[in-house]
Amino acid sequence: MKNETCVFCAIIERNMSAAVIYEDSNFLVLLDKYPINLGHTLVIPKLHYDNLLGMPSREVGSLYSLVPKIAKAVTEAVHADGFNVGQNNGKAANQIVPHVHVHIIPRFNCDSPNGKWPGRQLISFEELLIVAEKIKPFLDFSSLGDLYP
Ligand SMILES: [Zn+2]
Repeated sequence: MKNETCVFCAIIERNMSAAVIYEDSNFLVLLDKYPINLGHTLVIPKLHYDNLLGMPSREVGSLYSLVPKIAKAVTEAVHADGFNVGQNNGKAANQIVPHVHVHIIPRFNCDSPNGKWPGRQLISFEELLIVAEKIKPFLDFSSLGDLYP
């Protein structure tokens, strides 16, 4: 179920490069090209769904089962003090790519002195790949059995 004009489908099909940190038969996990903080990660289902409303509940469950495992590795790798999990649906909600994705955004104690979200950063692809390599050793799927309920 791939969408010809979708950037994430192109990445899944390997027609476009990305800093991938994890992949299995159902999901791909990559670093956001314009990170809010270093280690800003996206968890995406391999099947194309425009937004969460079109996705079967079971698959939503599997998607979110993966999120804490990835978040743990990301926060450990970049020494974050916390993290946000976000999922935007529709342009009004700031969904930029119309293919379901969950944002994992590492947060630091001092990254929002005025109470606002930190801005997006420009980072080179080479730097993204370095961050991806830094995160990979922290991935722990020893309890993979409970991943897909
Ligand atoms: Zn897609």
